[in-house]
Amino acid sequence: MALTKISRKTKAKPASTLLIHDTSNPFESMMKRLDQAAGIMNLEDDVYQIVKSPSKIIEVSLPIKMDNGRVKVFGGYRVIHSTALGPSKGGIRYHPQVDEHEVKALAAWMTFKCAIAEIPYGGAKGGITCDPKTMSVGELERLTRAYTVSMADIFGVDKDIPAPDVNTSGREMAWLMDEYSKVNGSFTPGVVTGKPLLLGGSHGRVEATGRGVCTAALEALKKMKLNPKKMRAVVQGFGNVGSISAKHFEANGIKVVGISDHTGAYYNAKGIDIIKAIAHCEKNSGNLKNFKGGTAITHEALLELECDILAPCALENQITSHNAAHVKAKLIVEGANGPTSSGADDILNKKGVIIIPDILANGGGVTVSYFEWVQNRTGYYHSEAEINKRADKWMINAFDNVWDVAVANKVPMRLGAYIHALTIVAKAIRARGSY
Ligand code: NAD
Repeated sequence: MALTKISRKTKAKPASTLLIHDTSNPFESMMKRLDQAAGIMNLEDDVYQIVKSPSKIIEVSLPIKMDNGRVKVFGGYRVIHSTALGPSKGGIRYHPQVDEHEVKALAAWMTFKCAIAEIPYGGAKGGITCDPKTMSVGELERLTRAYTVSMADIFGVDKDIPAPDVNTSGREMAWLMDEYSKVNGSFTPGVVTGKPLLLGGSHGRVEATGRGVCTAALEALKKMKLNPKKMRAVVQGFGNVGSISAKHFEANGIKVVGISDHTGAYYNAKGIDIIKAIAHCEKNSGNLKNFKGGTAITHEALLELECDILAPCALENQITSHNAAHVKAKLIVEGANGPTSSGADDILNKKGVIIIPDILANGGGVTVSYFEWVQNRTGYYHSEAEINKRADKWMINAFDNVWDVAVANKVPMRLGAYIHALTIVAKAIRARGSY
């Protein structure tokens, strides 16, 4: 479990990887919450020292021949935070802001998320510092294959299992599975989840994270004794998690009054037609740009709209100490990882806002990824109805567990989630006797 740093890089980290949304980096934000939870639960120092250090950090340089014939070198990462509960699991992100701090935080969150979801996985995350929006399909395929070859000795069905994240989807997972299978010499669908159905993907995986976000919000509304049909929601980010969360909010009678993506933000007091917004994106290279179903507003204004539920489903550090006081929502459900900075938490807690934390709220994705992996291992596949029913049940169970721990310790849900996750991970560390 000791920290092993394997460096295969030859170039310096580009300046574009610096976080622009907040002064604190996501790993520091994660550590602050971890320290608070460890203090409340009197976690012994031996276990704390293990949990706070990622077990392995891999950094690679990926030279890719671009379409113009020139070679460009991209930085890639994989961080394995913990394997205490099982093989490490976590997505791969393609984004200009990807750096070691971000990937380390995302990997630790995966450890805690898998523990809360009660699935037998540790936590990991990967990323490539690139701007996929400016790259061709061929360049992205070469980049994905180069990354897979670099990580071929790290990935494995019983070792480390990637999945999609920001700017990656079933397409990239299919390339990864294909390249890994070639290196491995045998068809290995269980090495990655979030694959297309045809290649061993699971029914329900594409919708799983957004569906889980909505299920978690509905559970919170029950506890808060609020009627979903009288609620207004705002969703930031309209990719996999945001668009599906919005779709499920709408299907459950929650009026979605604001949506956004990186190209723009839109408001409609009467409710945005989410099916139309999704159709607009499908015809418009995946973007909301020029969407006519609402009035265009600024990104900042979207987070401060009059609403009951705010679902940040884009990137880290969107709700910070700068704008938290202006948030009107009573309930924040974190579809994204790390959207609320630790400074913002303090302000929102004082205002009485309930926050369903990322490590609980977006755990529906990894839960169905686990179902996909089990199906790949057994070669027996389940229907969409079976998968959804099981995923809903697991999310409700996870929500209730975190809620109960928060109530018992008289702390907000985020701290309750960290305490609950740390309790489970610590038990595994002690049982394995790794120190
Ligand atoms: P995605 O690439 O499908 O979508 C990201 C969306 O965020 C896009 O609509 C993009 O335009 C938007 N966005 C980016 N910057 C923005 C900004 N400044 N303002 C508004 N919108 C902005 O990615 P995704 O898979 O939906 O992931 C979103 C978040 O959810 C990430 O934090 C990811 O780690 C987390 N997450 C994803 C999954 C999953 O299964 N895909 C699971 C758990 C958590």
